[in-house]
Amino acid sequence: MNKHKHQKGRQKQKHQQNQQSDKPVELLITIKRMGINGEGIGYYKRKAVFVQGALPGEEVIVVVTREYPKYIRAEMKRIRTKSKDRVDPPCDVYEACGGCQLQHLRYEKQLAFKRDLILQSLERYVKKEVDPSIIKKTIGMKHPWDYRNKSQLQVGRIRDNVIVGLYGQGSHRLIDITGCLVQHPKTNDVALQMKKIIADLNIPVYQEKKHEGIIRTIVTRLGFETGQIQLVLVTTKESFPKKQLLIKEIQKRLPQVTSLMLNVNNERTSLIYGENTFHLSGEEYIEEKLDEIGFELSARAFFQLNPAQTIKLYNEVKKVAELTGEEKVVDAYCGVGTIGLWLASNAKEVRGMEVIEDAVKDARKNAEKRGVDNVKYYTGTAESWLPKWKKEGFDPDVIIVDPPRTGCDNRFLETVKKIRPKKFIYVSCNPSTLAKDLDALMSKYEIKSIQPVDMFPQTSQVESITLLELK
Ligand code: SAH
Repeated sequence: MNKHKHQKGRQKQKHQQNQQSDKPVELLITIKRMGINGEGIGYYKRKAVFVQGALPGEEVIVVVTREYPKYIRAEMKRIRTKSKDRVDPPCDVYEACGGCQLQHLRYEKQLAFKRDLILQSLERYVKKEVDPSIIKKTIGMKHPWDYRNKSQLQVGRIRDNVIVGLYGQGSHRLIDITGCLVQHPKTNDVALQMKKIIADLNIPVYQEKKHEGIIRTIVTRLGFETGQIQLVLVTTKESFPKKQLLIKEIQKRLPQVTSLMLNVNNERTSLIYGENTFHLSGEEYIEEKLDEIGFELSARAFFQLNPAQTIKLYNEVKKVAELTGEEKVVDAYCGVGTIGLWLASNAKEVRGMEVIEDAVKDARKNAEKRGVDNVKYYTGTAESWLPKWKKEGFDPDVIIVDPPRTGCDNRFLETVKKIRPKKFIYVSCNPSTLAKDLDALMSKYEIKSIQPVDMFPQTSQVESITLLELK
């Protein structure tokens, strides 16, 4: 009955819209909360309305951009009542770029929002009730800008100008962001110079539509502590006209680059890297230090993007792991071995696994350099190694995972439930997959604490460390 009534109401509303179909539909919405992409969410006739840039508590006039069966997307036209937490976004291309989603929200509130998103995900995906007080306050930054150690910028051309930047939100327009405020200025300097070099030498830039041209992407990574910089040029071919000249110009104009590499990607893909990486000049890797622990990083290896917050993140893992020196530890999804090395001196044995072979090689070298001999790294998926280790009789006391956004594979989680380590520590960059994976472990484990750490200020990305203990 109710549903029928609702249907009728919906038809009426649609009818009204159709009558004025040439005019955009405007609505007055009160924003109730924020969603996972930092958008404001209000309601219109019980349907959720998503408005990018609107804040909780605000009354906004919006224009409907698209109506779906279950929700509406709308663009903000005017703010009628402004939130006291609204601040002026300092970046000129904030709205067009879309790389940041929270610059208009006071930083303390960004931190509160991130904690809240974890709570929302748990409420949504974990069947068992979770006490909200176990989620701690988000650990933030004093200066939440200039923090990123790596930039990956697409190269394009608009008329006669070379552009180095990112594709705007949901569009194929390249936005110049060589002055990005969340990037370390040294990475911006490299991008800016590269733009000039490519223009001066007239190197053909890659055109997605025609699938032609040479230079696609420039990736810059800086070691904050060491000052070393790696520049990776992603091109469609290994050899191309003026390649030697390009290398010479980079050496001349960017002497701060200590490692210059070339990666070849000739696929029609949104993935940055292709299979093959070549050394052009300088070293083949850069070094970075986190709290005196040194790491060698090769081009393809993952490394956390915010070094200052990474130290806080790893220290938090160390704190909840409470190792005594007797434990066997697994560092799953180990990258260049960072977490395992952070804990090695307090553990009996550490095993890590990772799919990118270069990262595993880096991990081994990093352990060797530190003179750590109780860690072992393996190439392959976490879900294939863990069952193998179990069969061999390896029974870890603590398992730490740090998976990509997609979360852990089911096979992995099932094996964890069979091994039953005393502690399971989940470092997550995605509250939704975190909550789903936690739900899968609830029959055997109890959530003790969740500590959000702000790795990406100004964006809606949420990182956290969850401690689970065997029931
Ligand atoms: N713990 C590391 C890396 C975390 S990022 C650090 O803090 O730096 C996640 C890592 O998981 C990436 O290096 C990625 O290459 C790797 N990875 C992705 N899928 C995987 C899988 N199924 N098994 C093992 N590693 C995987």
